[in-house]
Amino acid sequence: MELTNIGTVKELLAKNGFSFSKSLGQNFLINPSVCPKIAEMGGCRKGSAAIEIGTGIGVLTKELALRCDKVIAVEIDERLRPVLDETLAGFDNIEIIFADILKTDVKKLISEKLTGYGDIFICANLPYYITSPVIMKLLEDRLPIKAVTVMVQKEAADRICADMGTRECGAVTAAVNYYSSPEMLFRVNRGCFMPQPNVDSAVIRLDINDKPRYDVGDEKLFFRIIRAAFSQRRKQMLNPLSTALGTDKERLSEIFDKCGIKRNARPEELKMEEFAALCRSISAEI
Ligand code: SAM
Repeated sequence: MELTNIGTVKELLAKNGFSFSKSLGQNFLINPSVCPKIAEMGGCRKGSAAIEIGTGIGVLTKELALRCDKVIAVEIDERLRPVLDETLAGFDNIEIIFADILKTDVKKLISEKLTGYGDIFICANLPYYITSPVIMKLLEDRLPIKAVTVMVQKEAADRICADMGTRECGAVTAAVNYYSSPEMLFRVNRGCFMPQPNVDSAVIRLDINDKPRYDVGDEKLFFRIIRAAFSQRRKQMLNPLSTALGTDKERLSEIFDKCGIKRNARPEELKMEEFAALCRSISAEI
């Protein structure tokens, strides 16, 4: 079945009485070249396994299953079950779990279902309403995976792949850079989806590092600092930081001095190394 043929997809969905849920971010891919590209560039190959988030009608699931030995897909919408039974009928290496990815223990899923399958790759056309929480969950859970390759809104992709120390970066940029090496892969026009969203998208890949790329000392404190610093992205970070940490401003200013950070620095001016040094100093002195 041609899952990128609009006529076929419309007929299939009508037959199953399926209507798109905007709140679940259901914009399905109907361009034939995008899913094979995600699977290829996402690292999928024989001797490996893939985890997908959000199957839709299975257009990407199928491409992953053609390349990997095993695919586990997590989809929240039970209404897609009869559709997927039909579209993925020919595959015996796909298992679909109907659940909310944010409530799923992915580490357990991997140990129970993917042990012995070689390298594991996560690939998805993410539901946009939960892009950041999903990415943060996948990274913070420290999963035994090689890479996360996902389609997100273009603006989110620009933010995630921005260089630290530039106007485009944010808290998510710092988090992603801590756990992985991010790369912008390719842009995807809004016309490649049904229904068509009113934004363009991009596919990014996060290559997961065996251990974090920066020595921050206290990891929990690092993320508190990042969140507080970027809570007012364009403003000086001393104030929100002293409030969040409950620390006297003068004391914090001295730590800034010690780390070679300007007292009036804005978070978007700092490199990862500077945030890491700040975290180590705060941890040691407060
Ligand atoms: N992979 C398909 C494609 O490319 O056409 C569908 C992508 S669509 C943008 C996002 C999918 O994620 C939908 O099928 C939606 O039902 C599912 N989804 C939404 N929220 C979810 C959640 N919390 N957990 C798992 N799946 C979710």
